[in-house]
Amino acid sequence: MAMPPIYLDGLATTPVDPQVLAAMLPYFSDRPGNASNSAHAYGWEAAAAVEVARQYLAAAINADPSAIIFTSGATEADNLALKGVAEAYYSHGRHIITVQTEHSAVLAPCRYLESVGFRVTYLGVNPQGHIDLEALEEAFAADTILVSVMAANNEIGVIHPLAEIGRRCRDRNVLFHCDAAQALGKVPLDVQQMHIDLMSLTAHKLYGPKGIGALYLRRDRPRVQLAPQLHGGEQEQGWRSGTLATPLIVGFGEAVRLAQSRFTADMAHLRHLKQHLWQGLSALGEVYVNGDLEQGLPNCLNISIGGVDGSALLRALYPHVALSSGSACSSAKATPSHVLLALGRSPQLARATLRFGLLRTTTLEEINQVIGYVTECVQHLRQ
Ligand SMILES: *Cc1c(COP(=O)(O)O)cnc(C)c1O
Repeated sequence: MAMPPIYLDGLATTPVDPQVLAAMLPYFSDRPGNASNSAHAYGWEAAAAVEVARQYLAAAINADPSAIIFTSGATEADNLALKGVAEAYYSHGRHIITVQTEHSAVLAPCRYLESVGFRVTYLGVNPQGHIDLEALEEAFAADTILVSVMAANNEIGVIHPLAEIGRRCRDRNVLFHCDAAQALGKVPLDVQQMHIDLMSLTAHKLYGPKGIGALYLRRDRPRVQLAPQLHGGEQEQGWRSGTLATPLIVGFGEAVRLAQSRFTADMAHLRHLKQHLWQGLSALGEVYVNGDLEQGLPNCLNISIGGVDGSALLRALYPHVALSSGSACSSAKATPSHVLLALGRSPQLARATLRFGLLRTTTLEEINQVIGYVTECVQHLRQ
């Protein structure tokens, strides 16, 4: 019988960890309370479970639990941060700074804000995907209200120097938003030390459920203003109305707790697998790393392969390995990734790209099989 393809698309999403699933299950049925309902014990029980999850999230980023706002994911958190700050600080200034390689959940709200009168500077990156801190300094204007730079890139895994960016923002009284969807549980995050004022998080890149995320919102020094984007029952201190998704929030909290407790072992395992995968694939020749092998996520390897047609390669690999060429949100389009183009890759090479997203359950044996499949397919297509 044919084996199912090996799943290596962990940057698009991850399976729910069995321990996370077990923690969630009672809240789907036996514990049905609405966390906002204090009229009976079911409501208290749900509220208590939500607060435990909130504490796990807060602890993971060195924040106060009251600064965590649950959302439906990182897309909503990014939209709330960018539009919410823009609306609240409209009279202070209308200039925002971000980066060309951000996720579409940041870039699209920025383009929307441009359409309603804001100016946005999109910083470029060098061929490894790093921003130039001097270019950031030069981009600040008198009316800059917000800088938005992701922690780790979802296509190439590059990790940005958050503390250095945060310090430059703080020096100028400019707010700093960080999309940390890929970094949570893989890169140490500390909103105090890194001077982060708003941070977007999501559960489903971290072995948690899809459909739940959070926005960290700094409550003091400085107290960040935010215009809510969803109005209704005033949940989450009025920042985000809507009944709290208790089972998903419990799963998010458990996923974060688990990631923190396994951090050292998981990262060592992933680094080892990534090194092995790179060694195996670089033997093909004409293989180019997109990003920075040293300063990147340990679960991410993004390569472009010369001499092959990208879509033919993915099709040939599909029965054996499930991965994508880039962002899940843009891989349906024929246009090459905006991230790879920003690195200066030619459109043709950018199309011949494989993004490996390793899981903590991935084994060395699977990596060896994958090296074998890719080698076979590339050699076949090059003939
Ligand atoms: C996955 C991802 C998002 C979107 O998160 P959702 O929870 O799926 O909305 C945003 N930003 C980055 C960097 C991501 O990797």
